[in-house]
Amino acid sequence: MQIEKFLSLKSNSPVNQNSPFKESKEAISSVCIIGGGLAGLTAAIHLAQKKIDVVLFEKNNYPKHKVCGEYVSNEVLPYLNSLGIDVFEHGAKKIYNLNLSHQNGKTLEQQLPLGGFGISRYALDRLLAEKAKEKNVNIIHDEVLSIDFINDSFQITSKEQHIHANFVICAHGKRSGLDKTLDREFIHEKTPWIGIKAHYKSKKFNENLVELHNFQGGYCGLSMVENGHINLCYLVHQKEFKKFKSIEKFNQHGLTDNPYLKSFLEQAEPAFEKHLSISQISFQNKPTVKNHVFFAGDAAGLIHPLCGNGMAMAIHSAKLISEEIVLFFNSTHKSRKAVEQAYQKKWEYHFKKRLFYGKVIQKILLHPKLSSTLINLISGSPFLLKQIIKQTHGKPIDA
Ligand SMILES: Cc1cc2nc3c(=O)[nH]c(=O)nc-3n(C[C@H](O)[C@H](O)[C@H](O)COP(=O)(O)OP(=O)(O)OC[C@H]3O[C@@H](n4cnc5c(N)ncnc54)[C@H](O)[C@@H]3O)c2cc1C
Repeated sequence: MQIEKFLSLKSNSPVNQNSPFKESKEAISSVCIIGGGLAGLTAAIHLAQKKIDVVLFEKNNYPKHKVCGEYVSNEVLPYLNSLGIDVFEHGAKKIYNLNLSHQNGKTLEQQLPLGGFGISRYALDRLLAEKAKEKNVNIIHDEVLSIDFINDSFQITSKEQHIHANFVICAHGKRSGLDKTLDREFIHEKTPWIGIKAHYKSKKFNENLVELHNFQGGYCGLSMVENGHINLCYLVHQKEFKKFKSIEKFNQHGLTDNPYLKSFLEQAEPAFEKHLSISQISFQNKPTVKNHVFFAGDAAGLIHPLCGNGMAMAIHSAKLISEEIVLFFNSTHKSRKAVEQAYQKKWEYHFKKRLFYGKVIQKILLHPKLSSTLINLISGSPFLLKQIIKQTHGKPIDA
C-alpha cells in the first residue's frame, strides 16, 4: 500500500547511471531511518509491523556499549510489549526506588511513582535490532553522509551507496557528522558537558534501586543491568574534569567528593577495561522537522540525564512519528505537510515541558547550596519528589 502514493516519484527520481555508488535493491523505500539506536530501531519495528517498507542505516555493528545511565522508565513497557519486546525475558532488573545523595553526605530514599528497569544498551539495542530484522527491516551498517530532498523525495547517500526514500527519519542521536551536513544550528556551538560510563561488579548493590549522587560540577547514576553488573555513568562539566586531567584521576579525586560514590568505588571492581566517554553533549533546542526531514530521539532534543527519561522519550518520539507516517499511507493525512505539522505538534505537547523542567532541575542539582536545600525539602516531603519526577516523565505509553 505504501508505494502507490509515490509511484510517480519513481520516474521523477532517476538514479544517475554514471554514479560511482552501488545501487541498493530498495531503490525507493517508503521510509529511510538514519541511526539504529532506540529511536531509530523502535520506529523501524513500528512501521514494519504496519507493513511499511523500511531501510535503516546504522554506522556501527551490534552489540555495542554506549554512554548511558541505562535506567529506563516503565512508561515505555506497554508500547514495547506491543512491538513484541519483553525486556524482562532478557534479564532486565526491576527498579522501584530512588536513592539520592548530596556531596555533603545527606541522603534519602524514596519510591518512584512509576518505577523503571535496568538493562544495558549493549543488550537493549541488540534486542531491538533483532526484532527489526525479524520484521524484515533492511538494516545497512554504513554511515550516512548526506540527505537531499529532490522532486518531493529523498536521496540518501552513505559511504558505500545511495538510496531513495519517500520519508526520512533522522534518529542519529545527540551529535553526528550529519548534523553539519544538515546545517543544524546547535552543532556550531561548543558545550562543556562530558559523559563517562563503565560497568562494575559489586556484591553490595541493591538491584531494585537507582542511585543519583551529585559531586562538584556534575552528578552520577548507579543502577544494575541484566548481567548483574552495576552501571556507573556520570555527567561532568569540563571545567571540573580538566582539574584532574584523566578519567582515572577524576574517579579517584572528583567523584569521591561524594561519600556514597567514594564507598561504592572503594569496594567495586571494574568490569570494563576502559571507561567510555563522550563530549560536546548539547541540551539546546533542536527543530523536529527541517527541510522535510523528521528528527526523533536525541536528534530532536536531549533531556538532562538526571531525569532518567531520555530513552523513554526516544522510544516515545519514534512512536509519534511512526503513527503520523502510517496515517499518511492509509490516506488520513493527505499531504507531507500534514504529517510534518501533526508530528511537530505532538512532539511539543509531550516533551517541551519535560525538557524545560529538566533544565531547571539540573541547574539546582549543580548548585551546592540550592541542591542541599532541595534535598532537605524533599526529605521532609516525599510528595515533592514525586511531583518533580512527574514533571520530567510521561504517563505509560499506550500501544
Ligand atoms: C551521561 C548520560 C546518561 C544518560 N542516562 C540515561 C538514563 O539513565 N536513562 C535514560 O532514559 N536516558 C539516559 N540518557 C539519555 C539516553 O542515552 C538517550 O536519550 C538515548 O540514547 C537516545 O537514543 P537515540 O536513539 O536518540 O540515540 P542513540 O542511542 O545515540 O542512537 C543513535 C544511533 O545513530 C547512529 N548514527 C549516528 N550518526 C549516523 C550516521 N551518519 N549514519 C548512520 N548511523 C548513525 C549511532 O551510531 C547510534 O547508534 C543519558 C544520556 C547521557 C549523555
